[in-house]
Amino acid sequence: MKWTLNLITEFDSGEKEIHEVANWERREVFIKPASLGISIEESKQIAANIQRQMVADQVDRHNRALTVCRFCGQPVRTKGYYPSIFKSVFGKVPMRVRRVWGCKCCGTGNRTFSSLPTGRNPTSPELKYLTSKLAALMPFGKVADFMNELLPATTKSNASSVRNRVMRVGQRVEKAAANPGLGGPATPAQEEVVIGLDGGYVRGRSGPERNFEVVAGKVLAGQAATRFAFVRAGTSTASPRVQQAMMQAGCRDGTHVTVLSDGEAGLRAIQREIQPQSEHVLDWFHLAMRFQHVIQVARGLSHDQIRTIAKLWVTGRVDRAKWCLWNGKPVKGLHYLQSVQDWLTPCRQRGAPGAHALGHGVAGSAAVSECEPGLPAKLRQAIPGQATDFDGLG
Ligand SMILES: [Zn+2]
Repeated sequence: MKWTLNLITEFDSGEKEIHEVANWERREVFIKPASLGISIEESKQIAANIQRQMVADQVDRHNRALTVCRFCGQPVRTKGYYPSIFKSVFGKVPMRVRRVWGCKCCGTGNRTFSSLPTGRNPTSPELKYLTSKLAALMPFGKVADFMNELLPATTKSNASSVRNRVMRVGQRVEKAAANPGLGGPATPAQEEVVIGLDGGYVRGRSGPERNFEVVAGKVLAGQAATRFAFVRAGTSTASPRVQQAMMQAGCRDGTHVTVLSDGEAGLRAIQREIQPQSEHVLDWFHLAMRFQHVIQVARGLSHDQIRTIAKLWVTGRVDRAKWCLWNGKPVKGLHYLQSVQDWLTPCRQRGAPGAHALGHGVAGSAAVSECEPGLPAKLRQAIPGQATDFDGLG
């Protein structure tokens, strides 16, 4: 069996033109899933051919449309045509763009202009959008592979082209953010907003720093969310970007602000900078992960590093501390953690005032409590015991 797909162009004059877009066939009589319907390869060819014909027709009409000067009505003279490439989701399409002379009436008689008010090789907004969206989820190389797999061959992307496209979109977003006045109407003031903050390290491509930190978050006001992200460089903590997102979300004087974070010192500093009176709440997801981390570190220790009974005692205490914190018993939870931390403090430091204020009073600790020399420091460090860690606990 054979199929032919024709594209009929109907011009404004009513004239019609038929173009063959694609033809494909299936010889076998008995079908199998692999040969049923069109394939990705065929769909790519169909999309690319339709795109090429449509772009050619549209550019042709555009070239012919500019006949007289819109100020004086004098005929517009053609300088010539130049080749250009339109980059779209459905392939790179060559175009023949008209160049015209200016008009004496506006003093541009000896200059020439392109009839297309875009860059020399324009890129469709859809391609920019798709590339940026995917690049936010995957490495640039993977985005290129994925797009090459699904889109017509002439759209061919590689890691560099993806990066360059995303960079240009990023620069435009930055520029737009610097002129917030251009945005839509102001959001009405909100009574309450919630700001979620989190940070992560990204490997740097250039520059003296190997990694740089990106802080991302969103401002939730009712059902609406305003997202923001910025790079935290050097000593600077917050960014005008957070303030801007808050303003956009309708945060004004008198709005009650709640900040959610994992308790990291830098994020707490941002919270104090943007809204010193705001309420800070520890994000349970991050806190629970830290408890899980302690338990995993303890379980991973060998018999030489920790006795089995001590291991069970540590994991049991940490588990109970987690339960207490989740169930609104912070004092008891911190008490459990303190006992573990005291037990982990080496003997010679035990004499320090307050170092074992709680540890000795905890039932069960005596059985294992004599100092474990050589216990890895990483277990000690893993215990969430910093003052700031629990600052947000109600
Ligand atoms: Zn004119």
